Amino acid sequence: MELPKTFDSKSAEERWFQKWIDLGYFKADPARPGKVFSVVIPPPNVTGQLHLGHALNVSLQDIIVRTRRMQGYNTLWLPGTDHAGIATQNAVEKDLAKEGKDRHTMGRDAFVDRVWEWRETYGNRILNQLRRLGASCDWSRERFTLDAGLSQAVTKVFVDLYNRKLIYRAKRLINWCPRCETALSDLEVDHKEAVPGSLWYIRYPLTDGTGAITIATTRPETMLGDTAVAVNPDDERYKSYVGKTVRLPLVGREIPIIADAAIDREFGTGALKVTPAHDPVDFELGKRHNLEQISIFDGTAHINQNGGAYRGMSREEARQQIVKDLEVAGLLEKIEPHTHAIGVCSRCDTVVEPMLSEQWFLSMRAMADRAIEAVRKGDTTFHPKRWENVFFNWLENIHDWCISRQLWWGHRIPAYRCVRCDHLIVAAERPSRCPECDGSDIVQDDDVLDTWFSSGLWPMSTLGWPEETADFARYYPTSLLLTGFDIIFFWVARMMMFGLEFTDKVPFKDVYITPLVRDELGKKMTKSKGNVVDPLDLMNQYGADAVRFTLAQLAAQGRDVILSHDRFAASRAFANKIWNAARFVMMNLEGAPQPLPKVEIVKLGLAERWILSRLDATIREVSGSIDVFEFNVAAMKLYDFIWHEFCDWYIELSKEPLKAGGERQAGARWVLINVFDRMLRLLHPFMPFVSEEIWQVIRPYLDEPNLAPHLPIAKYPEPSATNPLSAAEELAMNHCIEATEAINSLRSLLGWHPGQRVTAVINPGSGSSAQEVEGWRSYAMTLARIEILTIGSTDGERAVSGHLLWADVAIDAPENFDFEVARQKLEKQLDEVKKHEAQHEARLKDERFMTKADPDTRAEVAQRFEDLKAQRKVLTEQLRQLEERARRKKLVKA
Ligand SMILES: [Zn+2]
Ligand SMILES: [Zn+2]
Repeated sequence: MELPKTFDSKSAEERWFQKWIDLGYFKADPARPGKVFSVVIPPPNVTGQLHLGHALNVSLQDIIVRTRRMQGYNTLWLPGTDHAGIATQNAVEKDLAKEGKDRHTMGRDAFVDRVWEWRETYGNRILNQLRRLGASCDWSRERFTLDAGLSQAVTKVFVDLYNRKLIYRAKRLINWCPRCETALSDLEVDHKEAVPGSLWYIRYPLTDGTGAITIATTRPETMLGDTAVAVNPDDERYKSYVGKTVRLPLVGREIPIIADAAIDREFGTGALKVTPAHDPVDFELGKRHNLEQISIFDGTAHINQNGGAYRGMSREEARQQIVKDLEVAGLLEKIEPHTHAIGVCSRCDTVVEPMLSEQWFLSMRAMADRAIEAVRKGDTTFHPKRWENVFFNWLENIHDWCISRQLWWGHRIPAYRCVRCDHLIVAAERPSRCPECDGSDIVQDDDVLDTWFSSGLWPMSTLGWPEETADFARYYPTSLLLTGFDIIFFWVARMMMFGLEFTDKVPFKDVYITPLVRDELGKKMTKSKGNVVDPLDLMNQYGADAVRFTLAQLAAQGRDVILSHDRFAASRAFANKIWNAARFVMMNLEGAPQPLPKVEIVKLGLAERWILSRLDATIREVSGSIDVFEFNVAAMKLYDFIWHEFCDWYIELSKEPLKAGGERQAGARWVLINVFDRMLRLLHPFMPFVSEEIWQVIRPYLDEPNLAPHLPIAKYPEPSATNPLSAAEELAMNHCIEATEAINSLRSLLGWHPGQRVTAVINPGSGSSAQEVEGWRSYAMTLARIEILTIGSTDGERAVSGHLLWADVAIDAPENFDFEVARQKLEKQLDEVKKHEAQHEARLKDERFMTKADPDTRAEVAQRFEDLKAQRKVLTEQLRQLEERARRKKLVKA
C-alpha cells in the first residue's frame, strides 16, 4: 500500500465515517463487561443549524468518548434532538406566513401535523452536520424529546409531581409574549438595559377637590388598569395625601392614595401609579394592600373591554392616544427623556407584557436544595469549578417555575376537566368518566409544557426510564455532561433536580462548561454583527480534523476561545506534516517484512530510545490532561511531540541508521513504526480521519495479537513498562537538543538561512563533559547542520557565542562577515521592539482603557507586553555580542 502525495480530507471523512458506522463500532452494548463511560449529547434544537458552539461542544465530547472507548470502557454516547417548543413553532409559523396562512385558521391538529412534516424535512440536518465532524455517537440510539418513550416519562413526572403537591395551578403575574401568545419563564426573557424612553408626569385630581397629585410613569397606557397611587410613608411632601382618593383621569375610577415603604422617593415625583395586573412590583404592592387587579390587555397586548374607549388599540396606539387626551384635558404636566430596562421575548424579541394569568407552576425550593447539596457534597463536580458558585447562586434565589405554555407544539399537559362539574383530573391516561359526577364530557388542558421540562429528563428518559431497561441500569447515572454556560439554569440545574427527585442519584458525575467562542477580535459572534463563522465552511476549507484539533487547542478552561483562520490553517498544516512523515516512513520500509520483527530495546541506539521515552511521556501527559478536561494541554503536547520531537528531530536522526542497513536499520524501522502506531492512536480522538487513513497503511507492519481492524476500537497506547532511557542518557539528549537550538539561533543571529552549514564549537562546563558531548556529537551535527564540530574553547576570533547552563556554544562567522551591518540591522529590530513595548506599557497604564476593555483584551495586551519584554532582552544580549565582535574586528584590523 502506498500513500498518495497529499491527504484528501474530504474523501477520508466520507469513507471512514461510513465504514465505522457500518461496522457498528459506536454501538453500545450494556451486556458487555467493562467500566462504563456514558454521555448524553446536549440535544440541539430540531430547528438548529450547526454553529461553532456545537462544533466545539461535539469535538470535545468526541475526544473524550473516543479516548475512553479505546481505553476499553463500555462506552455510550447518546445523540438526539430537542423538539424546542417555541423555537420550532415560530419557525413553522414563519413558513406558513409566507404562504399567507396562520395556525389559528389551520387549527391545532393540522398545525401540529405540519410541524411534524417540517421536522421530517429539517430535523436531521443538524445531526448530519454533527456526523460530518466525526461524532462517534451511537446513532442507533438517536432520541427525540417527543418520542413515545420520552413522552411517557414526561407524563409520569408531571402526574407524580402533581400528586406530590409540587405541581400546582395558580393565578400569578407571569411574563407574556404577545407575539408568541404564551407565558414565558423568567429565563426566557432577555433584559435590555438603558433603552431610551420617556417619563410622563400626569396629574391625578383629588376627589375632595383640593388639587391633584402628580405621578411619573414610563408606561402611561397602563393607567387604564391603575387601582391606587402610592407614596413613601416617610415622604413629608405627601403625608397629608395618604388616605385620600383620586379620580383616575380618562377612566373616572376613584382610587386610594396609599403609603408603602417600597416606594422610591427619588423617582419622578415620589408618587407612583399602581397597576397590579401589569407590573411585578405593583403586583406585590397590590397584594400587600388588597388592591383590585384589573387586566387591560388581551393575549396580543391590545386593550380589552376594561379599557373603555381605548379598546382594540395596541400598546403603542393606546399610549399615543392617552397622552394626547391627557394633554387636551390639561393633565399632562411634562415629559422628560428617560432610559429604562425592558424585557423582551428571547425567541421573537417582542416586548414582554407582565400579565395576570392562571398557569401551572412547579415548586422548586426543596428540589433546588437537594441539587445544591449534591454539588456541595461533590456528587457532581463542575469544571471549571467556579461555575458551581453561579449554580448555587441561582438555585438559592430560585422562584417557582411557570411550566405551562400556550403553544401547540410540545407535550400536552396531562390534566383534564369535567365540563359538567369543572372537576380537575391529572392522570397519565385520559379518564373516560368524571370521578365526581360520572360525566363523560371531559376536555384536556390546551397548554403544553415548557420545552425544558422534557429536556430536564433527558439523561433518564433517553435511557428508557421510567421502564427498568438494561440501558438505564447500566448507563445511568452518566459520566459526563459537556455543555455551554448559557444553559446551566435552563437545563443543567433542572436535570439535577429531576434526577435527584426521581432516581435519588445525580444524573452526571462531571459537568464541563465549554468556553465561549469569539471572533478574531475577541468579539462575540452574532448574526447582527455579521461575524459568524460557519463550521461547515471551515470543514470544507480545512478538513474536519483541522477544525476539531483547532477547537481542542483553543479550549482552555475559563478562557474564551478566540478563533482565527490562521489557527485552522496551522492545524491543516499539522495534518499535512503527519502525512509527509508517514510517506517518509513508508518509503523507508520498502522491502521490510510484515509484520516487522520486534527489536530488543537494549539493542537500539540512543536517539531511538530517546524518542520512545519521549513518546511515553507524551502518552502520560495527553491521557492525564484528558482526564482533567484540559483538552488544550493535551492538544499542545500532541502537537509538540509530533511536530518537533518526532518529525523535526527523530526523523532527521533516523536517516543515518536507515541508510546504514543491518541491525541499525532494522532498529530504526521498528522504532519508526512503533512510534507512529502509538502516536496515531493517541492522535485518533483528536484527528480521527487522518490518523485512520495512515494507520491502515502501517497496520500490516504491526505485530500485536488480536490487532483491531480500525483505530476507533484499537487499544489506547500505553507507555513502555520500563523507561527506555537512563537518567544520564536523558540528560545527554536534553543537552544535545539545547546545543542544537542554541546553534540554530546563533545562525539566525548572523542572518543566515537555516539550511546553511556552520563550523561550531561546544565547550562543556559543569554538569557535562567532553565524553558526554562525544556521545551525541553526530546527532547535533545532523540536527544543527554542523560542518565541523570542535569540542573545546569557544574563544575564537570570528566566533559568535551563546551561553548555556552547562556549556558555551559558538559558531564561526565567515571571513568577510560584516559585523557592523549585522549590528545595524539588529539595532533597528531592537528599536522596533522597544517602541511596541512602550506602546503596550502605556495602554496598561491607561486607566480608561483598563476599565473599559473586556478582560480578554486586557489579558492579551498584558501577555503581548511580556512577550515584547522577553524579546527585547534576547535582542539586547545579541546586540551586545555583535558590538563586542565588531569592536574586536576593528582592533584586529588596526
Ligand atoms: Zn415571542
Ligand atoms: Zn364532573
